[in-house]
Amino acid sequence: MPDLIIKSMVVLFGCLIGSFLNVCIYRMPRSGKVAPEDFLKISGSKEHSDKLWEDLISSGYIDEDGYVEKKFKKLRKKNQLAKFELAGAYAKSKKQIFRILDKSCELSIDKPKRSFCPNCQKQVLWYDNIPLLSYLALGGKCRFCKKPIPFRYFFVEFLTASLLLVVYSFFGLSVQFFTYGVLTCALIVSTFIDFDFFIIPDEITLGGLIVGIVLSGIFPQLHGASSWLDSLIKSGLGILAGGGSIYLIGQFGEIIFKKESMGGGDVEFLAMIGSVLGWQMALLIFFLAPFFGAGVGIFARLTKGAEIIPYGPYLSLATFIVILWGNNILKFLFYF
Ligand SMILES: [Zn+2]
Repeated sequence: MPDLIIKSMVVLFGCLIGSFLNVCIYRMPRSGKVAPEDFLKISGSKEHSDKLWEDLISSGYIDEDGYVEKKFKKLRKKNQLAKFELAGAYAKSKKQIFRILDKSCELSIDKPKRSFCPNCQKQVLWYDNIPLLSYLALGGKCRFCKKPIPFRYFFVEFLTASLLLVVYSFFGLSVQFFTYGVLTCALIVSTFIDFDFFIIPDEITLGGLIVGIVLSGIFPQLHGASSWLDSLIKSGLGILAGGGSIYLIGQFGEIIFKKESMGGGDVEFLAMIGSVLGWQMALLIFFLAPFFGAGVGIFARLTKGAEIIPYGPYLSLATFIVILWGNNILKFLFYF
């Protein structure tokens, strides 16, 4: 098949995949998440809803960030509203509270099936859902409520198609292209979610870790290994190097700054990346990312006075560079 046709297909599929990544970026961090304001109707005042919030955390139904815990998800799945026990002043409102938590869990990657406008909640018509083109045709506004659609939707589709094209031009039609393409998608989703929510979802980090191990076992060439066992060992070392390096620097930061300096998601994120790229590349990413992070961090502090900066985007940027040029960088560093 002529190269130009394959490239066109990579771009076409890249746009469609980008469209799906937009769904992931919007829904993943919002699924099963509640905020103290959601309970204002029940509690009546901010002060009281804060109390209710604390009760929900101490009862083990939500975590500190407002994500619904497994304990609640189990009750929800088995329809056991009666077992939903809440101590304190809000015991009598437990039905309403259950419903609010329940509703937050309804949103997921595959539910609802069709995309909707985050503002007016109306379903997006199929012909308004064509990657890149629909955004331009609609002039970047919702057909119904005319509210601007964030430019990000267009950008993510464009970015996904472009990056997949770059990966293709480096690796051709190969196992590497497929694997690094999937990894690139994970990097894009993590970057945008981390920017907004300062988290990287477990579906990406732990889910991706399993995918990384499985692919390493099936395709030893990913690690330049001679057998599946050798490849799995290299994948395992990548997990240790990636997760371990971030974990240790986090511990170090806690001792120096006396506060949490690395989110737990970052540990799992680089462990996942290490499972695919191996320990040398994981360490290279570890040392490369702060250069981007420091630059942007200083900029963010100067412009916005931001206190915390998400680290996922810089790990992602470093990872993409290492996917393309990691071997060259290592050669340059150690033979020069
Ligand atoms: Zn709308």
